[in-house]
Amino acid sequence: MVTKFHPVSLVRELHALGVRDVGENRHQEAQAKARDTADLDGLRWHFVGQLQSKKARQARAYVHAVHSLDRASVVDALSAETGDALRGFVQVNLTDDPARGGVAPDDLEVLVERVLATPGLRLRGVMAVAPLDEEPRRAFARLRDLSERVRRLDPAADRISAGMSHDFADAIAEGATHLRIGTAITGNRPDAG
Ligand SMILES: *Cc1c(COP(=O)(O)O)cnc(C)c1O
Repeated sequence: MVTKFHPVSLVRELHALGVRDVGENRHQEAQAKARDTADLDGLRWHFVGQLQSKKARQARAYVHAVHSLDRASVVDALSAETGDALRGFVQVNLTDDPARGGVAPDDLEVLVERVLATPGLRLRGVMAVAPLDEEPRRAFARLRDLSERVRRLDPAADRISAGMSHDFADAIAEGATHLRIGTAITGNRPDAG
C-alpha cells in the first residue's frame, strides 16, 4: 500500500486493519513516518521512489525493501558489512526516455551483478512503472522477460514489483508478486505539500 502524501493517521488506520507493508517515494517523508509509527508491530516500509545516494545510508535504518535500485551509485551507497541484509529490487526503465527512472534494459545485467557483489544487499527481483503511452500489459510482458534474465544470474531473485492503481490487473497477469497500490485504496492523495 502506497501511503505517500497521506498523514501518519492513515498509516495507523491501515495497520489496525491488518496492513503491514507500506510504501513511500520520498526519503524525508518516509523517515518521519517510520519514526512516528515505530510503536506499530510488524510494519514494513518499502521505498519506491528515486533514492539519492547521500540519503541511502539513512534510508537503510528504517527501510525493509528498496524497490528503486537504478544505478551503481545508489547500490554502492547501500552496502553494509554488518546488520541485516536489505532487500532490493532493480528498477528497469520500460520507456525510451532516460528521464523516467530505472536502468536501461541493455544495462540490466551489469547493475544486477553489482547488487549481487554488494555486501548487505539481497536481490529480490525487478521493479518497473508502466509507460504512459503503451498498453501496460505489453510493457509488463517485457518486464517478465527481464525478470527471467535476472533469474539466470540469481535464481532466488524471482520477484516482480509492478502494478499501480490503474494497471495492477495487467501486472498480475504478467506475474507481478508485489503490487504498489495507492489511490485505488486510499482515495486521492492530499496535495504534495
Ligand atoms: C505513487 C506510486 C505508486 C502508487 O500509485 P497509485 O496510482 O496511487 O496506485 C506506485 N508506485 C510508485 C513508484 C509510486 O510513486
